[in-house]
Formats: sequence, structure tokens, C-alpha cells
Amino acid sequence: MAGRRDFFKSFAKPLRQTREESPLLVRPPYGSLESLFQSECPACESKACVTSCDEKIIFIADDGTPTLDFSKNGCTFCDDCAKACEADVLSLENEETSEYLNAIFTISLNACVAHHGVICNACKEPCIDNAILFNGMFNPVIDADKCTACGFCISRCPTQAISFDVFALQKASEKTDNETV
Ligand code: SF4
Ligand code: SF4
Ligand code: SF4
Repeated sequence: MAGRRDFFKSFAKPLRQTREESPLLVRPPYGSLESLFQSECPACESKACVTSCDEKIIFIADDGTPTLDFSKNGCTFCDDCAKACEADVLSLENEETSEYLNAIFTISLNACVAHHGVICNACKEPCIDNAILFNGMFNPVIDADKCTACGFCISRCPTQAISFDVFALQKASEKTDNETV
């Protein structure tokens, strides 16, 4: 099975390619195309995905589309937002994004105190995927092939050393056109 890093290389284009248009947003899981969020969500009156989320991490951005806020919680991939979305922007049929969010998480080697001799493993416990690898008690790094981008580690870091880059969801069949940018 292809690793997560390979998955995003084949499925997404990085933030820098669209920054001039509008900032990309981290989306709820179960999406298939960034263009669907933009075409369907602003006109969606119910915004049912927002109220469906027990973790309360789905918010509506200024452009009327849903995005995730990891400042308190993360995504449990519980299916509820996909079940609630009547426009099929989010759908359980989108298996490729049922376990991953469209973001790549990293730990800043400068900001993380465990990279400077301080014992801290605050990010390790919330990561149920064991995606944060420590060398003994130090030097944590995120294994991109294990990380689901759930976001639970973000709020636990006392020095805000964990951040993420966002990727636009797109079908593999559209990749060739967009990659020429
Ligand atoms: S319920 Fe579906 S269509 Fe409505 S805002 Fe949420 S994701 Fe978009
Ligand atoms: S899968 Fe569950 S926790 Fe994740 S955004 Fe959807 S409703 Fe919220
Ligand atoms: S390292 Fe990845 S999988 Fe682990 S808690 Fe952070 S975002 Fe979630």
C-alpha cells in the first residue's frame, strides 16, 4: 500500500501553487475535490457538517466553506460530518480521504524544546497513531506515513512547535494539468 506521503503526491497540489488565488483551507475528511467545497458549500443553508461534529472543530470560513480548527481538539474520523452533508461534498464513498486530512504536519526543530535538551513529550500521548517518533526522550519528528493530520497534537504543544501545510484535494486524473504550474 502506498505511504501517506506518496498518497498526497498523487492526489494533491501543494499550497504554494495556489497561494496567489486564495489561501487553501484544511477540510473535513471524506472530501474529494477542493473545487466542490468552493462550488457547493457557500450555497449550503444547513451547514450540517458544523453541528454534526462532536469535537466542535468544523467552522465556516469567510468564503462560506468549512474548515477545521485544531486549537482545542482534533478529528476522530467519526463519519458524522460525511453522514450529515446532503450535498455529497463529504461522502463516505470517498474512502481515500476517510482516514487523512489534507495537511502535512511537522515539528519545528527550533521551537520544539525537546530538540534543545528539555524533557517534553506532551505531543506523544494524544497521538494514537504513534506518528511522533522520539529518540529516547528527545528529538521528536512526525512520521508522514503514519500521521493522519488529525490535529490532536497541535493544542498540546506548550511552545506551538507543531504546524501544518495544506494541500488542495484533487482527483489523480486532474493532476497532470495542474502540475504544470
Ligand atoms: S454540509 Fe456539506 S455542503 Fe454544507 S457546508 Fe458542510 S460540507 Fe458543505
Ligand atoms: S469526522 Fe467527526 S470529528 Fe472529524 S471533522 Fe467530521 S464530524 Fe468532526
Ligand atoms: S502527529 Fe499526526 S496523527 Fe499524531 S496527533 Fe499529530 S496530527 Fe494526529
